[in-house]
Amino acid sequence: MNKIVLLFLSVSFFCQAQKKTKPEFDRVEPAFWWVGMKNSELQILFYNHSANLGSYEASLNYAGVSIKEKITVENPHYLFLKLEVSPSTKAGIIPIQFKAGKKSFTYSYELKNKSTAANRIQGFNSSDVLYLIMPDRFANGDIKNDSLPGFYEGVHREKSFGRHGGDLKGISDHLDFIQELGVTTLWLNPVLENNQKRESYHGYAITDFYKVDARFGSNEEYVLLIEKCHARGLKMVQDMVINHMGNYNWLMLDLPEKNWVHQFPEFTRSNYRSEVVSDPYQSQYDLNKMTNGWFDYTMPDINQSNPLFATYLIQNTLWWIEYAGIDGIRMDTYPYPDRAYMARWAKEVLTEYPKFNIVGEVLVNSKPMVGYWQKDALNKDGYQSNLPSVIDFPLTNAVNAALNEKGSWDGGLSRLYTTLAHDFIYPNANGNVTFLDNHDMSRYFFNMGRDLNKFKMGLIFLMTTRGIPQLYYGTELLMDGNYSIHPTVRMEVPGGWPGDQVNEFTRAGRTKEQNEAYDFMSKLLQWRKTKPVIHSGKLTQFIPEDNVYVYFRHQANETVMVLMNGNDKEMKINTSRYSECMKGKTKAVNVLSAEVLQNIQEITLPSMTAVILELQ
Ligand code: CA
Repeated sequence: MNKIVLLFLSVSFFCQAQKKTKPEFDRVEPAFWWVGMKNSELQILFYNHSANLGSYEASLNYAGVSIKEKITVENPHYLFLKLEVSPSTKAGIIPIQFKAGKKSFTYSYELKNKSTAANRIQGFNSSDVLYLIMPDRFANGDIKNDSLPGFYEGVHREKSFGRHGGDLKGISDHLDFIQELGVTTLWLNPVLENNQKRESYHGYAITDFYKVDARFGSNEEYVLLIEKCHARGLKMVQDMVINHMGNYNWLMLDLPEKNWVHQFPEFTRSNYRSEVVSDPYQSQYDLNKMTNGWFDYTMPDINQSNPLFATYLIQNTLWWIEYAGIDGIRMDTYPYPDRAYMARWAKEVLTEYPKFNIVGEVLVNSKPMVGYWQKDALNKDGYQSNLPSVIDFPLTNAVNAALNEKGSWDGGLSRLYTTLAHDFIYPNANGNVTFLDNHDMSRYFFNMGRDLNKFKMGLIFLMTTRGIPQLYYGTELLMDGNYSIHPTVRMEVPGGWPGDQVNEFTRAGRTKEQNEAYDFMSKLLQWRKTKPVIHSGKLTQFIPEDNVYVYFRHQANETVMVLMNGNDKEMKINTSRYSECMKGKTKAVNVLSAEVLQNIQEITLPSMTAVILELQ
């Protein structure tokens, strides 16, 4: 047989196969899987909106793979198969035979080989700096995807709660800007489909767990963006939500079982009181509202104790990690789902990918409550979350207060000292994600009263204290939104949209003050990148006196000294008090100004400034 005939035959066979198998199911999830996964069980969901799948028989014949269980549910449009995929199984197409009465057909299910490409699935840690981007508001790289058929919302830039058209291409087009800033890792607000009728731009009401929102781009474009990041030495953290979903999620529109979401006789909202979960005196009433109440009318609460949905969500996470090569996850609303389930979820993800990292959002201003959720916490109730990292809201609040108060016993810069003095509560404080603002609060520059000196002080603290720092896009452009006018903290970057009058992605498009902020941050971050002493060196702090706070990061032969003056006047600081950390060193280099200090016995600090000194 010559090649052309062979090609013709294979194409026609492929077309027939497509014709034969495609219409049988509207959805198969996960659409494909991999051989060599540590967990050898695979649960596949089959869905057809008009067929009775409950009557289907399924069989297969493929070396290493067997059907463990066929599961039917209340809704006959669904069928679940649990497969056992033995470790020796080879990648390939599994023909699954379905039979219903006289009808029979084959569905081709693919098991792939896992990617062996370098630099994928690396995790993130305190050597990284995260950069949070709201994809709808960063840059619009493709106006063709702004409004698409089949999607409720199109672009309305004039509406602050509407979609503005930003997308993955917009991010991809500005990686130079991001990389010059010196961050190492992107965290995008959720990119999965949010085909909701209103306010779908923020991404937290997912309508398809397996698909990137087409208005941001395709799954393939997401993978390309991540590959592009990896090639530049940047990482990607995916924002996930499994506490709730959008009420227009396709699953919600034809629930497999009523109990895939928590149902109430009338609309019942969560009380949003995370402390209930760890409260030793909790009432079942409060706990039930907290964990089972809906996040909003448009965000039904997922029931993670439904075994099929529980597994579906874990597999979905593993699927995104393996498919896209993401380096970490930021999990939304961590205390809201069933806590035992979250511990299982984290454990299964990290067992499959030990180098991976996960940070959980615990949005409370209380160290014990945040610490409760971190892996290895010594909780009296015995709860073990398996979650490596928590988002450190108490530190954020401390910085914002510290820089806006006069010094006192417990106010002003003493807040920074005290916050860190309480770190015993965290099993791994250096694993906390630390930040000055995010999409759910006023912009840091606004909180600093638009004072550039204060702004720099807080950033120096964030970048030199313990933790994994995170920045919110636009900080470097001095965006100054006030959360009480909520959408102003989620503004477009000028220059990200075709026809914008100003382009703040370029030096020429920025004001003098903006360039000062960008250059300052870039210098600080580029330096931090190369400093293991900051990533993992020991931290020693001294009780602030006269609102001057001094701390050290040190390891073997390296000592970094940070001094912060929170006063409206210049301070002369006698450093003899710090001799245990200075170890006889008498000279230093000011990291940001490159100035050499020949004698550091006394250091003069101008009003409201911080300096980073490398001791010599
Ligand atoms: Ca667009």
